[in-house]
Amino acid sequence: MENYKHILLAVDFYEHCEAVANRAKDLAHRFQAKLSIIHVVDCLPMTEAGYGMDMPFNMDLTAELMAAAKKKLAKLAEELAVTEDKLWLEMGSPKTEIIRVAAENKVDLIVVGSHGRHGLALLLGSTANGVLHHAACDVLAVRLQEE
Ligand code: AMP
Repeated sequence: MENYKHILLAVDFYEHCEAVANRAKDLAHRFQAKLSIIHVVDCLPMTEAGYGMDMPFNMDLTAELMAAAKKKLAKLAEELAVTEDKLWLEMGSPKTEIIRVAAENKVDLIVVGSHGRHGLALLLGSTANGVLHHAACDVLAVRLQEE
């Protein structure tokens, strides 16, 4: 088996995220691979979406979410010694963005948690499941146990 050269860690900053991050760091070390990190801020509903509600927010809240996510990402990057050029902060569908960034950057292994905010009700979380089914490269789903 050839060594992995570029590992992409997908983080949601929920509980257990640290265990997933540590596994990705360990693998990058073992394979002497480049380690990148991605976090995707989920799309927000637009104003006047036809629900009969005129929501009092749109881009401002998005900007706040992006800023908060950026801070979290920078902190994790520091802990894992990942430089800024290997950080991806995207907006949209987590599954789609993880797959796109992986494909565009010659990632050969994506590391996700088996579950995230969607909990342990599913055998595999929805993002993990989507990435596993649609990514062109290998995907490692780090098994997260219920405490
Ligand atoms: P889920 O499918 O939401 O249960 O999450 C499973 C795993 O997918 C998480 O442990 C993360 O590795 C990844 N993931 C979920 N949401 C995101 C997100 N917004 N950005 C990056 N990775 C995510």
